[in-house]
Amino acid sequence: MTVKHLLIDIEGVLVTDKSYRPVPGGVTWLNSLAAQGYDWRLVSNNTTHPPQALINSLRDAGFNVDLDQLEGAATTGCNWLRSEGHRTIGWLGASSLSPWLEEQGFVLAPPGAASCDAVVLGVNADLQVTDLDRAASWLQQGAALLCLHRNRIWLDATGLVRLGPGAWAAALEAAVPGVRSVTAGKPEPAVYQRALESLGALPESTLFISDDPFSDLAGARRLGMATVFVLSGKYPDAGILSTLGPDQQPDLVLDRADQLVPDRLQQG
Ligand SMILES: [Mg+2]
Repeated sequence: MTVKHLLIDIEGVLVTDKSYRPVPGGVTWLNSLAAQGYDWRLVSNNTTHPPQALINSLRDAGFNVDLDQLEGAATTGCNWLRSEGHRTIGWLGASSLSPWLEEQGFVLAPPGAASCDAVVLGVNADLQVTDLDRAASWLQQGAALLCLHRNRIWLDATGLVRLGPGAWAAALEAAVPGVRSVTAGKPEPAVYQRALESLGALPESTLFISDDPFSDLAGARRLGMATVFVLSGKYPDAGILSTLGPDQQPDLVLDRADQLVPDRLQQG
């Protein structure tokens, strides 16, 4: 198989964590891909930055990236909410995304609201148990549960492991049996498919590179892409792969993205 297109995770691949410090070698690697003949898109589950702010953070770190090279869970989630006619949302994610959600036309339910159309989960370092209690009440009243992604953990700006929306979603689903639960970002197909369409690419000629074998790479593999697991993010030890089945293993394991040089991209 000849790899022509790359889909690239951001946190843990290009930057170390929420500090947005570049992974060593990452800036030169990404900025040289086009000259090597590879077309690429960023596919991100980021839910703490509005899309343009995310791009600006990467540009500040030295990456040559533009907004049209990003496909993200936040945008995919908004598209789903609109398609369902959900306007009033119980936002349990980071307050840094709240103004952008309002710009997208959504009304954020205040904490005292009796109901909302959908509870929406994103990464939130300040989430309290009382927030989950309120969400459980909204779900009991019939709200849908939208997970912008279901990452189990994430790394904050100090590199600390924090529980992610996947963990909170599991708690809410256990608390409210039968809740309608939908995921917007990786590993669900929509965000990958938007990126492939944007590139005009087939999964068979596309490689996904990420620090998350459970979410990002599992979803990419189900669509038929080759996968590369890097150890520069949330899982620094490849031993984590022993918890995955033989059909879920990545095609390649590397310390960092800049080790993915052209001769390793031509597989078989
Ligand atoms: Mg990542």
